[in-house]
Amino acid sequence: MTLIDQYSRHINYLRVSITDRCDLRCVYCMKEKMTFLPKKEILTLEEIERLCDNFIEMGVKKIRLTGGEPLLRKDLPVLVEQLSSIAGIEDISLTTNGVLLTQKMAQQLKDSGLHRITVSLDALDDETFKAISDVSFKVDKVLDAIETADSVGLSPVKINMVVKKGVNEQAILPMAKHFHSSGIILRFIEFMDVGSTNHWQMDDVFSAKEIVDAINQELPIEPADANYKGEVAKRWSYKDGGGEIGVISSVTQPFCQSCTRARLSAEGKLYTCLFATQGKDLRRLIREGENDEHVAEVVSAIWKKRTDRYSELRSSETVLLPKVEMSYIGG
Ligand code: SAM
Repeated sequence: MTLIDQYSRHINYLRVSITDRCDLRCVYCMKEKMTFLPKKEILTLEEIERLCDNFIEMGVKKIRLTGGEPLLRKDLPVLVEQLSSIAGIEDISLTTNGVLLTQKMAQQLKDSGLHRITVSLDALDDETFKAISDVSFKVDKVLDAIETADSVGLSPVKINMVVKKGVNEQAILPMAKHFHSSGIILRFIEFMDVGSTNHWQMDDVFSAKEIVDAINQELPIEPADANYKGEVAKRWSYKDGGGEIGVISSVTQPFCQSCTRARLSAEGKLYTCLFATQGKDLRRLIREGENDEHVAEVVSAIWKKRTDRYSELRSSETVLLPKVEMSYIGG
């Protein structure tokens, strides 16, 4: 089955938020005091697996587990194992802050069939890290997690670094130098206006161009070809052969035209854009006993009508829309 939307975009990639809870409070993502969903409203593992299976039937090839912090779900390896046994799945990945990624957990995830991991880290110095994530532990804990993921073969490990102007642009070069020649792919992300609680304003965006310029001054880089059509991160290679970086420029250079992502929230709502204000409640359908064919018809009808291109339309007015929080919809 091939699902194509109004702008000829195939459904290809499903990002699943498996919990809306997180053990960090990154300033660009969550408020200090959040209201979380009650447990009974969160999809069970069986429900996640069933919906993913259905999406794979509809053409999805790649699944990313995210949140919230996905490692807060203790049974994560069981879910990965279930997903990896679905015929047609080509790639299962995970985005995590790394805090709970012990050697044992990393190995379990690898053995269960996880292919790749992305760890979020926004600075190398403890002071900036604390200012962003509001936690007391040290950056070394996250660096250990990155090393652990690499050592068990969850590679290539990628690092997500969100750059917020006035907060951590001074950390760009130290991060680039640290991961240069390591085989680990550092990706810089422009601060985005996801959700409604992070007080986003354009003035706080450190642009992709500024990021590239900052690195290029000391570590010369040149554009590299995309790995595949529609790759979100623009690739840059170090001229000295020290590997590559990625820059995700959703704000200053939107890539809506190639967006093939569907998103499943922690409570089972389908969203067809990261900046959406409304989703379709698939959990209700399955808990009311609807069969997979019916769920597929509902999803198919939504995808065929899809016209989302928020980042291309971003304006001072769209910024005020009541968008769904990143932790809930899945980053
Ligand atoms: N807890 C996990 C983590 O920290 O990686 C997964 C969820 S988190 C929401 C997923 C990614 O979204 C992280 O890399 C985070 O830095 C990024 N993110 C969150 N809010 C963002 C924002 N306003 N702009 C850009 N990226 C953001």
